[in-house]
Amino acid sequence: MAWSGSVASAGAGRMRWWGWGDPGHARELPRGAMRHLTAALGRLGRPSPPVALDAVRLPAGALAAAALERLVRIVGDGNVRADHAERVAHAAGRGYPDLMRLRGGEPEGAPDAVVLPESHEQVRALLEHCAGESLAVVPFGGGTSVVGGVAPLRGAHAGVIALDMRRICDVVQLDRESLTVTVGGGMRALELERYLAARGLTLGHFPQSFEYVSLGGCAATRSAGQASSGYGSIEKMVVGIRLAAPTGDIALPAIPASAAGPSLRGVLVGSEGVLGVIDELSLRVRPAPRASHYEGVFFEGFEAGVQALRALAQEHAMPDVARLSDEAETRMTLALAGARSVKDRAGRAYLRARGYGRGCLAILGFEGGEPEAAQRRARAMALVQRGGGLPVGGAPGAAWRRSRFEAPYLRDELMTLGVMVETLETATQWSNLLRLHGRVGAAIAAALRACGTPGLVMCHVSHLYETGASLYFTFLAARRAEDELGQWHAAKRAASEAIMQGGGTITHHHAIGRDHAPWMQDEVGAGGVDALRALKAQLDPAGIMNPGKLLDA
Ligand SMILES: Cc1cc2nc3c(=O)[nH]c(=O)nc-3n(C[C@H](O)[C@H](O)[C@H](O)COP(=O)(O)OP(=O)(O)OC[C@H]3O[C@@H](n4cnc5c(N)ncnc54)[C@H](O)[C@@H]3O)c2cc1C
Repeated sequence: MAWSGSVASAGAGRMRWWGWGDPGHARELPRGAMRHLTAALGRLGRPSPPVALDAVRLPAGALAAAALERLVRIVGDGNVRADHAERVAHAAGRGYPDLMRLRGGEPEGAPDAVVLPESHEQVRALLEHCAGESLAVVPFGGGTSVVGGVAPLRGAHAGVIALDMRRICDVVQLDRESLTVTVGGGMRALELERYLAARGLTLGHFPQSFEYVSLGGCAATRSAGQASSGYGSIEKMVVGIRLAAPTGDIALPAIPASAAGPSLRGVLVGSEGVLGVIDELSLRVRPAPRASHYEGVFFEGFEAGVQALRALAQEHAMPDVARLSDEAETRMTLALAGARSVKDRAGRAYLRARGYGRGCLAILGFEGGEPEAAQRRARAMALVQRGGGLPVGGAPGAAWRRSRFEAPYLRDELMTLGVMVETLETATQWSNLLRLHGRVGAAIAAALRACGTPGLVMCHVSHLYETGASLYFTFLAARRAEDELGQWHAAKRAASEAIMQGGGTITHHHAIGRDHAPWMQDEVGAGGVDALRALKAQLDPAGIMNPGKLLDA
């Protein structure tokens, strides 16, 4: 099955309110990784376990009983929640500052109510009502945004609701002949994958947040899954979409291609809840792969690995999954894996003897029918060997597949131990990739040093294109307890400026949200921002949709 991975196959429960994932699933940092981390950071910060749920401080709800009752009339009894736990669960996304504030019991704010419509008609009625009452609306899918996309900002409005999509979660239609499926915008990617797997199909969209994301949220953020090199990102999968905006609907049916003017579908995908609510979408699906081959390959250094991936992308030998870790990330990956057996230790001695001891690990995955998947694998492996790659067999690939959804659980553990851990991403052309990698890594490291907390900065290349690829950075530092937010801001700002000055995009797949909004104009120009603002003014004249995101820096 394409989405194998320990957590996802076990099934995901309701999200832990202060961190990631299923409360029944925890992950401890292996001892070797802990040693590696302590050596790299010098020291860990002061431990910061989360406060108790009832110690979380929320602003008093701004909606009086009569205002809540008017919402109940639209969505029915039990579907307007204003209790403490539900407000906390919708108070933030899952970026580092979100989690830091939640753990400390001081979220930035909270929605005055969480409202759960169950149909397009109810969404329409809610938006009209909120426009009339000046209530801001934050569309809420899985709540996994890492860029402040679901921050409950009310702007100039009288109150703010989280419009939780979880009840609009049905499969509307499966068209097996055309290989498309139409679903409610609140359907979880995990649930859709289960539905499709039972029918021999797959969507192939596996972000690391797969357990919790909604498909409407993925479309709204232009998300990219781990297998995007083969299956494409969500924008390649969305063939039809319906947006309910305060002034009316835009419904684009599932047509394979059209030359009817500029692509409106392209405008709605990535609209981040500021234009309206995506409450239905049609997605292209594929037959589930019958075979999969995941391989580890070592390169002497990052540059050799990058050139080999470029050859794969440009010589029509693209794997479905391709990830190349730089030297720092490779060392951490090996520390996490540990040298459990004599065979592991012998493997590392072999790498050292061949001159790859300080090298970079790539994981390449090929899926599909047989013999086609095996043939693609053979061709790609010949190309990477030509580029100096040393194949090390299926074990690293199997280990990556087993743990592909585990990193966010480790982040919780690290935060409890007093470590700041954050990720960010960009993309650029092949001709600029190595330069940008060096520039962004150096900027983050310098910013952390200036805070008095030298960090560990790691990166991998994933999401390959013929013209370039994405870079995904992870950085860790001892948490600066007296000013955690300042520490995070310093690193984030330094990275964002290095990205923009270095010719990258401010985001390859995490979206703009609130955190990247100051760089939106650098990305698309003043004319681009004005054009999007004009569209928003047309669809949302009262400005109730997701204030403070995407367009409001
Ligand atoms: C641990 C972790 C790993 C991640 N890994 C990846 C990854 O591999 N790839 C990737 O692309 N992203 C990743 N992300 C980011 C995040 O999961 C994606 O942005 C995801 O697409 C958000 O989906 P969601 O349903 O959780 O949306 P939410 O977080 O609920 O919302 C995100 C934005 O979309 C808007 N929105 C949500 N639903 C709708 C709707 N129906 N209509 C209109 N607007 C809507 C919200 O208002 C908000 O602005 C990761 C996040 C975490 C925490």
